[in-house]
Amino acid sequence: MLHRLKTDFRLSIITLLGVCAVLGVAPFAVFRFIQGQIAVGLFDVGIVIGVLAAVAHGWITGRTGTSGLLLSLLSSICAVIVGRFIGEPGMLWAFPCLITNFFLTTPRLATGINLITITALMVQAQGSVEAIQLWSFFTSAVMVSACAYAFAHRNASQRNMLEHLATIDPLTGVRNRRCMDQELAMSVAAAERTGQPYTLALLDLDHFKRINDQYGHSVGDDVLTTLVNLIQQNTRRTDFLFRYGGEEFVLLLPGTAGPGVKKVMCNLQATIRKHLRVEGQSVTASFGVAELEIGEGVDGWLERADAALYRAKEAGRDRIIYAKGSGEQTESGASQEESLLT
Ligand code: GH3
Ligand code: MG
Ligand code: MG
Repeated sequence: MLHRLKTDFRLSIITLLGVCAVLGVAPFAVFRFIQGQIAVGLFDVGIVIGVLAAVAHGWITGRTGTSGLLLSLLSSICAVIVGRFIGEPGMLWAFPCLITNFFLTTPRLATGINLITITALMVQAQGSVEAIQLWSFFTSAVMVSACAYAFAHRNASQRNMLEHLATIDPLTGVRNRRCMDQELAMSVAAAERTGQPYTLALLDLDHFKRINDQYGHSVGDDVLTTLVNLIQQNTRRTDFLFRYGGEEFVLLLPGTAGPGVKKVMCNLQATIRKHLRVEGQSVTASFGVAELEIGEGVDGWLERADAALYRAKEAGRDRIIYAKGSGEQTESGASQEESLLT
């Protein structure tokens, strides 16, 4: 739970605002009921229930965009209703609402919601509030919204940039190991929930050090980027490629198992042999492939693929080794190769 709050910015904001709204509004509801103002008390209870429902939706479904939008709409509608019934002092409640909308939803949506909220408050206050005060409210509300927009927009672009730096390998442009850990953990959880097959292939270029030594580091870098392009061109858009480290990559194939995996791997091996070249010489790769076993964790899954890759290297490189199940591995305690393709 704490981990989700730390890693999901919008969920933490939604939760914080939810807690503040409940702590701020619930005592008013009790106060209204004690004073016999049942209708207003019920309105406050409605706000608390609405906020709790939106927060719960975010936690349960993970769709924080929808919960944020719901909270934003709810607080804006409440601000208009409060302005309608309490008049001028009630309009002051619009300000915190106008600012928090930018934390709850996208800057564009928040701008739209704010413009509608300000207009609705202006229209309903006409006649009961002096024109000078009405336009003074309008100007300050628009200025607050504009400042909040600028802040939210900058904040969003900086967050995106940080996320990019933290998850993308700068040389090849594919996801890095940190991102892989998260994706593999989510795949294991999804497989347990849905029974969908997942396959992982560890790929390591053969004698890559020689390329660096003979032709230089920049040629080695070009080989890595060409390899990534070849893999991406020959796999599905729903497959994931991660740079595991150095000249080692992990290919995650969701929904692929059995003969489908062999087809993809054989095609990749042939493509690399044919198109990955340095000075006319073919560069090859070794593969360790493991299908996710039921009840297996990320570590066990990766270890089986790694052991298969080790076998591929030992057996002479430029080949694919398919790991057998973890149960059989423990039982036999020996090699886990199921088939060896050269
Ligand atoms: P094997 O067939 O056993 O895998 O041999 P290898 O030479 O490929 O393996 P080894 O692990 O000994 O060498 C990997 C090399 O990859 C060593 C390192 O200098 C090089 N390397 C790691 N990252 C990069 C990179 O970003 N660019 C370049 N050009 N080389 C890199
Ligand atoms: Mg290598
Ligand atoms: Mg290596």
